[in-house]
Amino acid sequence: MGGQMRFNAKARLDASRTQDVGGSGGGTGGGGFPIPIGKAGGGIGGLIVAVIIYLVVSNLGGGDAGGALSDSAFADSSVGLSGQAFDYATCKTGEDANNSDECALVAVENSLTDYWKNQAQVADVFQPERAIRVFHGSVSTGGCGNATTDVGPFYCSADQTIYLDTAFYDTIFKQLGGTATPFVRAYVIAHEYGHHIQDLLGTMSKVKTQQGKKSDSVRLELQADCYAGMWAHDAETTPDAEGNALIEDVTADDIAQGITAAKEVGDDYIQQRSGGAVNPDQWTHGSSAERQHWFATGMQANDDISACDTFSARSLD
Ligand SMILES: [Zn+2]
Repeated sequence: MGGQMRFNAKARLDASRTQDVGGSGGGTGGGGFPIPIGKAGGGIGGLIVAVIIYLVVSNLGGGDAGGALSDSAFADSSVGLSGQAFDYATCKTGEDANNSDECALVAVENSLTDYWKNQAQVADVFQPERAIRVFHGSVSTGGCGNATTDVGPFYCSADQTIYLDTAFYDTIFKQLGGTATPFVRAYVIAHEYGHHIQDLLGTMSKVKTQQGKKSDSVRLELQADCYAGMWAHDAETTPDAEGNALIEDVTADDIAQGITAAKEVGDDYIQQRSGGAVNPDQWTHGSSAERQHWFATGMQANDDISACDTFSARSLD
């Protein structure tokens, strides 16, 4: 039935930016990775952009009885405690990525880097994210404070780093009804990488309003979905350092799964799943329809980043 996204078995991977920092964060599991200091002069230092779940966690603490997705439902992410840190340096080829979710993360990061460094509107300022730091349970960031699995994957601008507890896919995302296929995992990373692109382009400074249907926060998040769509469309044809495409066989099934995932992380969908009323005033990431719309918009953007200008768009869905 269509199969799933595969990686070019012979491609070489660059795992230098991906690391497992263990359960307590702060680089203890990573073997000497320096903890970056916040950006000099950083007006936006410490901005933390979680992909999905921030809304759930922040709103369900608020006393409404009957929330199906209570904080306690997220609390036991005991998968992979420190001491089981994965050595990402063992991810060397596309074949490794075909055989392991961890190495697939490296491959997706490589593809995103290859894609964005060649985009004309980004090339002048491009640099890869400083790191993807995989943690287990909790982590100390380099400028965005401490975070736990509940927050979901997030990007910290102060250290230009993507943080991810892979247990997220089996806990929170599953509770939302999601299935973490390889392409869905890639979509999540592509969204976070989108925040990195926004960081490079200075877009984050546009965010003045943090909540609500037409808030800047929603516009920022939908733009990250759009950027993810831009990459998804070109993933099969983006050349790696050796001139070959790293990703093969992005299927119609993959795309459908990505679109479904975009629905499952919509603010209205999460509010419904949590047993509460749909309240647009509390939205931070956009509705299911909006997230699907902007992912699809990115896929049709033909590498023109201006197609993703959610800040100028009058209608977001
Ligand atoms: Zn986000």
